[in-house]
Amino acid sequence: MVRMRVLASGSRGNSTIVASAKTRILVDAGLSCRELMKRMKAAGEEPRGLDAILITHEHQDHVQGMAVTARKLGIPVYLTEPTHRAWVRWMTPQRRITYAEWLEQRKASVQRSGRSVQEEPEAGSGAQSAERGASVQRSGLSVQEEPEAGSGRLAAALEPDAEEKAAAEEAIAEAAREPERDPTSLPAVEYFRAGNGFRIGDIAVTPFTIPHDAVDPVGFVFEAEGVRIAIATDLGYMPSNVNMQLRGCDVLMLESNHDVEMLRDGPYPWSVKQRVMSRVGHLSNDAAGEFLARGYDGGAAYVVLAHLSENNNLPELARISAERALRDRMSLLANHLLLAEQDRPLEAIVL
Ligand SMILES: [Zn+2]
Ligand SMILES: [Zn+2]
Repeated sequence: MVRMRVLASGSRGNSTIVASAKTRILVDAGLSCRELMKRMKAAGEEPRGLDAILITHEHQDHVQGMAVTARKLGIPVYLTEPTHRAWVRWMTPQRRITYAEWLEQRKASVQRSGRSVQEEPEAGSGAQSAERGASVQRSGLSVQEEPEAGSGRLAAALEPDAEEKAAAEEAIAEAAREPERDPTSLPAVEYFRAGNGFRIGDIAVTPFTIPHDAVDPVGFVFEAEGVRIAIATDLGYMPSNVNMQLRGCDVLMLESNHDVEMLRDGPYPWSVKQRVMSRVGHLSNDAAGEFLARGYDGGAAYVVLAHLSENNNLPELARISAERALRDRMSLLANHLLLAEQDRPLEAIVL
């Protein structure tokens, strides 16, 4: 028995469970950990039994609860290396050091070296003037790269005055208030590459590249117990490699993001409209319909329309467009057309 359960779908968060009798995978974790847990429990999916989290791309609506959920459940996260790097970059605020830390490093440097003060470059001077007392950016100071300067004279010159002491104390207190945990820590990270299949338990996973404005976005095909499930959302158009992956599926989860007219006439700024409509944006109802009418082989027992925009689409428009596209297909009677929702889990699909 293979089961798929969409927990959430849309621009405010995406997450879906794909499960065989033995293995359960969370595909994307785009809601807070708390909300994910709530929805899993409401859907009768015990979170403790999850085996892994799989990530399609680094956009917030796909990774928001990833780290907290992975840490809480102690499970690995599968993603591509570029996606992991992009996420880490995004999560890591520019590293700052306090004036006090800078001073300490400077003193340590002075003590280690016997070279003269005059040879020292200007690197530290900015910190001693405008930025003094505030936390200063590492890049502006280059403490580590600086040649080691020396002599007791410099050490004496660096002895802080009362104002500096107060600022340093404040900076230290602030640092102490910061949470200890590294927000990018994960219990385990497994890298995969688009085009290279792998297994998680008894589920075979094939990631494939999709055209979207993320560093290395993918869709997935899952196969277990003879059942094939494809997930393809967040794609600007339907290239032939994706088209091919979506053949022979029993469940097809396909993006039907926006109604072109609603988007064009809607509230988004023109730059955002262009992004959504671009070839690295999102699939419109028309584009999804075009695929269902011409590219799709008509074999899926379930077609799930997903990632519907709340501002630029209406469920009925997406449904009508897909139904019209599927009207002439031989298998229409066998097709169940479902619409994934943002705010509540979709009914379980069991095959
Ligand atoms: Zn995206
Ligand atoms: Zn998305």
